Amino acid sequence: MKYIIIGAVAGGASAAARIRRLDEHAEIIIFERGAYISYANCGLPYYIGDVIKDRNKLFVQTAAAFNKRFNIDVRTMTDVIQIDPKNRIVTAFKQSTGEVYTENYDKLVLSPGAEPVRPPLPGINSEGIFTLRNVRDTDYIKNYIRQHNVKKAVVIGAGFIGLEMAENFHQLGLQVIVMEMSNQILTPLDFPIAALAQQHIRSKGVQLLLNTTVTGFTNEDDGLTVTLKNGEILKADIVLLSIGVRPDTNLAEKAGLKIGSARGIAVNEFLQTSDSDIYAVGDAIEFKNSVSGKSMISYLAGPANKQGRICADNIVLGNTHSYHGSINTAIVKVFDMTVATAGMASKHLTAENIPHIVSTNHAGSHASYFPGSTRMSIQIAFSPDNGRLLGAQIAGHEGVDKRIDILSSYIQQSRTIYDLAEFEHAYAPPYSSAKDPVNMAGFVAENILSDKLKIFYWDEITRLKTYDLLIDVRNPDEFSAGCIPGAINIPLDEIRDRLQEIPADKNIRIYCEAGLRGYLAQRILKQLGFDSVSNLSGGYISWKACMAEYENEYHLITRF
Ligand code: FAD
Repeated sequence: MKYIIIGAVAGGASAAARIRRLDEHAEIIIFERGAYISYANCGLPYYIGDVIKDRNKLFVQTAAAFNKRFNIDVRTMTDVIQIDPKNRIVTAFKQSTGEVYTENYDKLVLSPGAEPVRPPLPGINSEGIFTLRNVRDTDYIKNYIRQHNVKKAVVIGAGFIGLEMAENFHQLGLQVIVMEMSNQILTPLDFPIAALAQQHIRSKGVQLLLNTTVTGFTNEDDGLTVTLKNGEILKADIVLLSIGVRPDTNLAEKAGLKIGSARGIAVNEFLQTSDSDIYAVGDAIEFKNSVSGKSMISYLAGPANKQGRICADNIVLGNTHSYHGSINTAIVKVFDMTVATAGMASKHLTAENIPHIVSTNHAGSHASYFPGSTRMSIQIAFSPDNGRLLGAQIAGHEGVDKRIDILSSYIQQSRTIYDLAEFEHAYAPPYSSAKDPVNMAGFVAENILSDKLKIFYWDEITRLKTYDLLIDVRNPDEFSAGCIPGAINIPLDEIRDRLQEIPADKNIRIYCEAGLRGYLAQRILKQLGFDSVSNLSGGYISWKACMAEYENEYHLITRF
């Protein structure tokens, strides 16, 4: 058998190595447009920021080592420019010589990845404006910073790569502005979790401009100018464009392969395209999201690597291994915060008309009495009918990675919030609490579904009416340090003695710092005959971050 693979990084290199492990006698050729194979895309921002100092560490494999170990014919700096599915032939272009030649195949794997979006704005090709996809881009950026007096960086797009680059520019001592067209960073997140991360970014001295659209660039003697839709002009020495990527379907489309509704290469459960001899993996393909049931593209290294392995099994062993799809589990370091997500955000569930309840809680990363515990904010979305977990997002410092992986696996397995409540973890004070933050998220959701807890959300507070009474049940020192306007203060431990201050005919809205004391107060009032009592989900912590960011957004909108 003769196998050809196009693209030699995450998905392609995985597929090639697995094919060899399954078939020692096969002829395997892997084509790669770039000079490097199987390198660490995910490490590129950290190499630019000098966190990874040794460039060689980026290369998981070299073409020579890959060839020696796996006996695979690696052809770097060679583009596949055409696929002829009918005759099972690819046409290749060797960059060093200009030679164009063909190779036939029995089975073909496409793993061409995604290409950064580069809108046709005036001046977009000016010197000093970069996108980041591969080692070549990385070298350009690194050399540009070395060779020019770069002091000010503008990052356009506050997605995962944009934020990583903002942090790494900052790490190099540059003044950094991040611009984002939307009203929040990181699209897969809902506003309350994004708001916590935004506050953290601002606390580092990075300027974050939301609701901001760039209309063009000019290169002048004293550097680049970035023009905004409102007419404002900003100066920059370097610009990083990270406004998104799109699946590289060029070859597939020209070959007549089916493209799906999300504009990725359509594949079946075996990762086989509309041509039975061609398989495809990675950022270029689309498949069903198990939560929404809709087609989606997951631009993530984990799924690409795993798909490469599954697709190799199916190619060599026959279609034996089904791929069950990705739920977009992702994590990003935002300075010394970690932000992570799995499944679907509430805003996306709403857009898909999927009924759900959202609940936010804040817990310590480990036992509060053991040194070093930090706050972790978890938001989950779950079905009101059966408690199925649909999405989870976390912002925190320590232990976010562990918790999101747990939540991800529960979402992937269509498990419920009742399972979270019973989830058994390894506990000792340095690592967790006897009730882990994941259990706590489950307990809160369980209380909501069993009607023991009624919640309301931060954005409802601006719409409170005269029949609403807002009670802050924190201690007086916390109240005087900052509270929600209009609230009265009745600390939790005094509430039984001060019932006369709470009119029973009012709609009682309670809040505390994180949600727990508010829940306890609500239980007391409810059992003492107060009919309408609810507790602020995420408490003062969530409200404060959301309001700060909301007001920021409001000022920007009015300013522009
Ligand atoms: P790629 O790994 O991009 O490989 C595609 C290769 O195909 C490219 O090298 C390209 O040159 C080659 N190619 C394309 N067309 C042709 C052709 N016609 N002929 C020959 N060769 C061709 N994901 C995470 O999960 N976590 C992270 O932290 C993370 N960080 C990232 C940071 C950066 C800077 C970038 C760019 C990506 C990051 N990703 C991250 C995304 C992750 O790297 C991708 O999801 C993953 O690499 C996709 O694998 P792939 O095989 O589909 O494509």
